[in-house]
Amino acid sequence: MKTEAILPGSTIGCLGGGQLGRMFALAARKMGYRVHTVDPTPDSPTGQISDREYNVPFTDIPTLLEFAGGVDVVTYEFENIPVEALDALAPKVALRPGRDVLYTTQNRRREKEFLQQHGFPVAPFRVVQNEDELRAAVGVLGCPCVLKTADFGYDGKGQQKISFESDLSGVWKKQGDRAGVVEAWVPFTCELSVVVARGLNGTEDERLVQAFPPTVNEHENHILATSVAPAPLAASILARAQSIAAEIAGRLDVIGLLAVEFFLTRRGDLLVNELAPRPHNSGHYSFDACVTSQFEQQLRAVCGLPLGDTRLLSPVIMRNLLGDVWANGTPDWPALLALPGLRLHLYGKSEPRAGRKMGHYCVLSPTLEQAWEIDAQAQRILRR
Ligand code: AMP
Repeated sequence: MKTEAILPGSTIGCLGGGQLGRMFALAARKMGYRVHTVDPTPDSPTGQISDREYNVPFTDIPTLLEFAGGVDVVTYEFENIPVEALDALAPKVALRPGRDVLYTTQNRRREKEFLQQHGFPVAPFRVVQNEDELRAAVGVLGCPCVLKTADFGYDGKGQQKISFESDLSGVWKKQGDRAGVVEAWVPFTCELSVVVARGLNGTEDERLVQAFPPTVNEHENHILATSVAPAPLAASILARAQSIAAEIAGRLDVIGLLAVEFFLTRRGDLLVNELAPRPHNSGHYSFDACVTSQFEQQLRAVCGLPLGDTRLLSPVIMRNLLGDVWANGTPDWPALLALPGLRLHLYGKSEPRAGRKMGHYCVLSPTLEQAWEIDAQAQRILRR
């Protein structure tokens, strides 16, 4: 059965009001769609671009149902929406990606077990529910390893690295007696990620999947600092990452986007680290550097439109701008904007707290070497 496309002029609902939703809303607006968003905090980055912003917690089911009544499809920019809310919404409106995709990916244990059960490559891990199981897991996996909370962790929050000297009782106490996943430490050569889109085109058994060019990512203090495309890695590794990501999207039956983060090991193996069923920070470069951005692609996928061309138009470096950059006052934006090929994105957040993602820039240059030079100049301006 062919699903009818949701055409321009329709209204898209976005759960979550952060920068990912803001860039999604910008893409939707560009194509003549209207956007309604839900976020507990008023004047959210997405709300600023939306026709309507509902400022309620994601547990306020009556208001969520009212929101559902005013939109043609619901998508997300944040996957940690309580499943009770999704279950209430599902009979009322199309949720894309679906409830089960979120259920699996909003919990590290379920996500890891799903990947393992379907034969996708992951670092060795054990699920632990108490201190004894933690000790046993550390014994099996060896040191170093890392304990992560099973749910609601992002940007390295809720993670504890464990070494031979670690006091495991203290580690478990800090975990707050919550279920966790212990993972073997992966001495990776680099981290890379791929965003794929899976829409409603093709047949129900064989949906079309379109992958974006992978990026190599650098983190600082567990937060993404830079993403680079084209990733300076062998074409065979990039193709493998894209095909694993596409296969995972198919297995999960995603309609929308799926971001897959990988570790590349010294032996050249790819291990899946994390999944996110939404646009991803490492895909921001596509807004400036690809024929179709990840945000427009999300729109096309959830509206049942043909997926767009993901071709990379220029070498690009994306760098996040955290609140720390405001330490000495408002950065010198004019100086930054004077740099050739630099595109600035700010998310409309008023409080520049340390570690908070306030914006990013992309540098587009004929070569990555030149882009790194411009990035170094930008860094000097931001440190002034
Ligand atoms: P996560 O929140 O799981 O994506 O972890 C945040 C960051 O911590 C990753 O991007 C890695 O840089 C690092 N990290 C997490 N797990 C491991 C691991 N098993 N081995 C090595 N580094 C890791």
